[in-house]
Amino acid sequence: MRRFLPYLRYLRSLRKPLVGAIVSGLIYGVASGAGLPYMLKYVFPTIFGVDAIRLKTWELIAISLYLPLIFIVRGLAGYANAYLTQFVGVRVLEALRFDYFHKLQLLPLAFFQRKSTGDLITRGLNDTNQLQAIISLIANDLIKQPATLLGALGFLIYLGFTTKGVPLVLLSIAIIPITVLPIRFVGKKIVQKAQSMAAQAGSITDRFTENLSAVKEVRAFGLETMESNRFASASAIMVKVQMKVAKYALLLSPSIEFISAVGISVTFVYAYRTGLKLETFLAIVAALFTCYDPVKQLGAISAALQRGAVSLERIEEILHAPIVIEDPEHPIPVDRLKGAIEFKDVMFAYNKDVAVLRGINAKIPAGTVCALVGPSGAGKSTFANLVPRFYEANSGSVTVDGIDLRAMRVADLRKNIAVVSQDPVLFNDTIFTNLSFGRLGATRDEVEQAAKDAFAHDFIMTLPQGYETIVGERGGKLSGGQRQRIALARAFLRQAPILILDEATSALDSESEAFIQRALKKLMQNKTVLIIAHRFSTIRDATMILVFNSAKIVAQGTHAELYESNVLYKSLYDQQKQLPPSN
Ligand code: ATP
Repeated sequence: MRRFLPYLRYLRSLRKPLVGAIVSGLIYGVASGAGLPYMLKYVFPTIFGVDAIRLKTWELIAISLYLPLIFIVRGLAGYANAYLTQFVGVRVLEALRFDYFHKLQLLPLAFFQRKSTGDLITRGLNDTNQLQAIISLIANDLIKQPATLLGALGFLIYLGFTTKGVPLVLLSIAIIPITVLPIRFVGKKIVQKAQSMAAQAGSITDRFTENLSAVKEVRAFGLETMESNRFASASAIMVKVQMKVAKYALLLSPSIEFISAVGISVTFVYAYRTGLKLETFLAIVAALFTCYDPVKQLGAISAALQRGAVSLERIEEILHAPIVIEDPEHPIPVDRLKGAIEFKDVMFAYNKDVAVLRGINAKIPAGTVCALVGPSGAGKSTFANLVPRFYEANSGSVTVDGIDLRAMRVADLRKNIAVVSQDPVLFNDTIFTNLSFGRLGATRDEVEQAAKDAFAHDFIMTLPQGYETIVGERGGKLSGGQRQRIALARAFLRQAPILILDEATSALDSESEAFIQRALKKLMQNKTVLIIAHRFSTIRDATMILVFNSAKIVAQGTHAELYESNVLYKSLYDQQKQLPPSN
């Protein structure tokens, strides 16, 4: 239970329904814990007992109304309690799920390389659902059952003080604590199994996400059967773990019932020895039964809480993950930057032991078009990724206009940067919305102007719904060239002084290609551009070229200078020249 205490803060805004739930739970508990035994002890003997008196009609009606009245109070209080507790639980879960999603927005890119998408989805959906199911279960019982237990125990203690022979019988209650033993045993087992069940649910979601994101590849390589088999084995492991959880969870109820039965038979013996009256005996047995049921339910709740603790732990692992790339306490106010970039002695490693960038020094004046060239894996993309602080340098510093990136707010920095990737991702929304992500709050005219600058307006107008056309998942309803022009239009709209461009390697049809080249030329004007260049024309026209090899910058200069002086550059350039697409 202590595990859940930090989340009490979520209850702050839910005080009223919570108080309502507690009060109605207590009323329910008294009505069920003491109501029935009271009837057996006092009401029935009035009617059937040896010293039964002749009742007046109104007294008979009053007595006959006792039972329905108890059940109405119990029913209404039980309903109110379950509804209100459920309401509180669902609202807490809503807040938790939001916090989880929001945290995913803040975590650095490096975090997502360590965790699989399926696992993160499972934590956000499955584990929160698991918590929700547990809250529903608990909602019904958490207040009602202890209240019922207290009601019944209270009645028994009252009898103990008022009736001869009862104290001895009450010894049989001593057996109740023994029922805690199976609860503890099962709880421990369930925690272990629930952990593997949650992890396995993650692997199954992984199978789904990976397979659905590679629909084309699966067909192209004929992997359908292999994929189905991989799914089946992940699923089979899940079934095994699920059944193990069921095996232990279902053990609980019969064990508690058995112990209760032993308790009640002990009561028989004592009752016989002490010569208890039948109505007192029946009232005690009813109260004892009423005691054991809450204990059984509390056992189930305890097992559910253990399972919930596992889900909560998985969610917390993300909620407590360090954000790493955070705003400084006292950020230097930054509005529009000029875009002079400098790397000083930068070292960077994705994994601690392998440096991907070493001893990097580079000065890129504002307004320079800087091409990054080098063999595959040399570190070009990593270099570019350090500028918007997608990753953080392990040592050394990166500055823009002389200000260390770590001294300004991340949002201020990124507002000054437009990123166009090789294979731009669009959201499954309208073209207009996709474009306006370039600068949230841009006007319709600004969006259309950006589309015109990127030579996207004309093709957009030929679509049936124009700017309101939905682009499909990841922009799948548009061609590669169209997607790239949308991405360029976004970059136009951003009006940022720094542009990071990962030039597409795949060949486009010549019309698209020509449009994109013209759009790019215009987009690059008056900006500091870092371009991971694949076309030799782009490389040749750059004002500055950085040559990367094995995690280092091995040369820098203009095309003419490097072509003369650097063997690696010359060979890379000559290779590039022979490759399509060339222009
Ligand atoms: P290419 O031209 O093929 O895109 P590149 O020069 O841009 O290559 P980078 O993508 O910067 O190279 O990669 C540099 C090195 O870092 C490579 O050895 C690569 O395997 C490694 N690397 C890149 N991304 C990650 C990552 N997320 N986690 C671990 N290692 C990575």
